[in-house]
Amino acid sequence: MEQTTSALLQRLSESATIAMARKARELKDQGVDVISLSLGEPDFDTPDAMKQAGIDAIEANETHYTPVPGTARVRKAIVEKFKRDNGLEYTMDQVVVSTGAKQSLANVVLSLVDPGDEVILPAPYWVSYEEIVKVAGGIPVVLPTSIDNDYKIQPSELEAAITPKTRLVMYSSPCNPSGSVYTQEETAALADVLRPHDRIVTVSDEIYELINFTDKHASMAAQPGMWERTVTVNGISKGFAMTGWRLGYIGAPTWIAAACTKIQGQFTSAPSSITQAAAAAALEADPSLVGDMVEAFRRRRALMVEGLSQVPGFKVNQPMGAFYVFPDVSALFGKSFNGKVLENANDVAFFLLEEAQVASVSGAAFGTPECIRLSYAAADDVLKEAVRRIDEACRQLSA
Ligand code: PMP
Ligand code: GLU
Repeated sequence: MEQTTSALLQRLSESATIAMARKARELKDQGVDVISLSLGEPDFDTPDAMKQAGIDAIEANETHYTPVPGTARVRKAIVEKFKRDNGLEYTMDQVVVSTGAKQSLANVVLSLVDPGDEVILPAPYWVSYEEIVKVAGGIPVVLPTSIDNDYKIQPSELEAAITPKTRLVMYSSPCNPSGSVYTQEETAALADVLRPHDRIVTVSDEIYELINFTDKHASMAAQPGMWERTVTVNGISKGFAMTGWRLGYIGAPTWIAAACTKIQGQFTSAPSSITQAAAAAALEADPSLVGDMVEAFRRRRALMVEGLSQVPGFKVNQPMGAFYVFPDVSALFGKSFNGKVLENANDVAFFLLEEAQVASVSGAAFGTPECIRLSYAAADDVLKEAVRRIDEACRQLSA
């Protein structure tokens, strides 16, 4: 049997976050005491209200196919959520729910990007953006940033990257992996650059909206003149600790929502009917429902930032949202352990896995190869031990 996969598959890399989580799990299964800070997933359980809504849906026999873009109830809850939290007006036919925000993003990219179209990705970007763009035949145009400007792009840098081939600009705020949050003023300044460009759609990934340590979340679509050229992506995985339920959603102009529905109708149809009921309960609830989780993340952020700042070779900034720290570890490049030289962030991530038994993800997968990403969605004690181990391992590196 000839075992050849498609050219598309060969263009695609495995998700680095998932690959590292798998490696950590394998080591754990072999009895190695690995602390896995690789996967971005809240360690909390889904709150009772959403669990009960899922159980109620099963008992009420809400177990049939639903409309492809989602039930009326969940889309209504999303319309209300956008109005309540973001000042955004969408109608029900401008909302599409999908099997995770990952599928929402794939729908949007496959709906809008033709081969050869350019997609601007401010780096660090979330791993899957680049790969989804490649699936569509698009060309990722990476805009580098650094810790010195808080991993945020300047409007002039965005302006300089735009060409007649630019189709999308895709970014997350709060950002996975840097934790950076664009303020209202910074979002408005980027909007000023984007507004005159009628071919460019901005994909604003707001899935970490609720895990924001600043006062306010800024939605790109709420900036003057941006609603018609923006897709707002959000979901329940992060803010409500519902990763396994698999539901994400978009708010978008009708023509884009219709395109995403068409694509989804051929791939997966709607997400699980049970999940849609649980998601509706999450979105109908007051966001303060998850206030305790956010406070726990705030405490853990302090623990990580303080701890890692003491580690030789680590340069850490203060992330303002999400649950990641993204230290610049380039000062470790060229140092060695047992004769093996750390050449780059991949080497640092593997060194930490092997010597500290702490799993992180190399920044290379996020387009910022000076850094590594550590998730702090883990118990305080676990994080303290991880920092201790990382510190101990790095002190053994020779100059
Ligand atoms: N966007 C970002 C920035 C993420 O970190 C994630 C995490 N998985 C997703 C989208 C996808 O989320 P999900 O598919 O679990 O809704
Ligand atoms: N988004 C999470 C992360 O960045 C989950 C893993 C994934 O979906 O790739 O780690």
